[in-house]
Amino acid sequence: MEAASCISSEGQPIQCKAAVCRKAGEPLVIEDVMVAPPMSREARIRIICTSLCHSDITFWRMKDAPGICPRILGHEAVGIVESVGEDVREVEKGDVVVPVFLPECGECEDCKSKKSNLCSTVGFRVSPWMPRQESSRFTDMKGQPIYHFLFVSSFSQYTVVDVANLTKIHPSLPPNRACLLSCGVSTGVGAAWLTAGVEAGSTVAIFGLGSIGLAVAEGARLCGASRIIGVDLNPRKFEIGKKFGVTDFVNSAECGDKPVSQVIKDMTGGGADYCFECVGMASLVQEAYASCRKGWGKTVVVGVDKPGSKLTLSSAEVLHSGKVLMGSLFGGLKPKTHIPILVKRYLDKELRLDDFVTHEIDFKDINRAFDLLLEGQCLRCVIWMNK
Ligand code: NAD
Ligand code: ZN
Ligand code: ZN
Repeated sequence: MEAASCISSEGQPIQCKAAVCRKAGEPLVIEDVMVAPPMSREARIRIICTSLCHSDITFWRMKDAPGICPRILGHEAVGIVESVGEDVREVEKGDVVVPVFLPECGECEDCKSKKSNLCSTVGFRVSPWMPRQESSRFTDMKGQPIYHFLFVSSFSQYTVVDVANLTKIHPSLPPNRACLLSCGVSTGVGAAWLTAGVEAGSTVAIFGLGSIGLAVAEGARLCGASRIIGVDLNPRKFEIGKKFGVTDFVNSAECGDKPVSQVIKDMTGGGADYCFECVGMASLVQEAYASCRKGWGKTVVVGVDKPGSKLTLSSAEVLHSGKVLMGSLFGGLKPKTHIPILVKRYLDKELRLDDFVTHEIDFKDINRAFDLLLEGQCLRCVIWMNK
């Protein structure tokens, strides 16, 4: 596939190819779109490569709000700044950047606090628009607007992103590794490292061994966890998990009448120190909470469940067990502060990224990435945008 069919020019709209979700749950349609120039505090990015995260699948399937069509999905990517709007000082044309769904303005109370990564100036919402000027930068060839996704919309050869959602990175990082830091791997590693604060010698249980769960394992390994228990329904994930330091496996489909939490309690003599839900099911959050040790056990919710789903916990158990339940968006990381640390740890050969990339495909075959993830065949499928 040709790269952008028009020559890009600052201040002008760019015509390029994008994979548009025209109908929930149906294959994306590759079509020409117009990408407007960036407005104030925005940059227009040429996407080099992007990868598919399960959150794209969750919103691709969603028929009701906040699902919306036509939309350009994709939020795990790396690109090069093509042009910037007014009042942009943080990045300039030619910079290599990682867009992240979670903003970091660097100035609000939350950005200044060590306790939070939830910026309150720009904020995180599942919105169909750009975060500040609430409008779209995409139109189709009939002049109709196309909606944004998670402030990134990387399934397009060009996209527009707010500067609060952009992290400049060292250009030496290969693009098919850099894109992993835009969501999945950073989220998992951060959930173990910053949200949970896993300590050396501790026992960790991870529900769901996709890229997020395996990145939790990688983060826990880097923190010195001595035992990492992986729970999944797909036995293929167990062999893969060994590469990421998973030491024990529980196939939740083969536990019979025994709840998984009881299996984990029996394995650990009372429960794991840290449990992570990396699937996106309220019932598994409850199972994870039940699997962690009384007194100090901590459960971290990372998976994204359907909108409106509720947790049911016994208030007596919450009171008597003294356990902690936390949520973790982007692994508790502040993108501009922490992504450069992960880049350095990769370049220093501490953080493993390579094994997460199980497939690489051309943009024209983007729908194949959906099949691979849904069939449980892949961890991350990198999609090269100029092919
Ligand atoms: P994935 O599809 O690659 O992996 C999910 C894994 O869960 C698979 O191995 C699957 O076999 C397993 N699984 C499914 N049902 C299960 C069950 N009942 N019990 C045990 N295992 C089960 O997905 P991913 O890309 O790794 O994403 C995982 C979750 O993390 C998704 O919900 C995604 O939306 C969410 N996510 C959250 C954040 C965040 O900031 N909190 C960021 C990225 C992704
Ligand atoms: Zn994601
Ligand atoms: Zn902020």
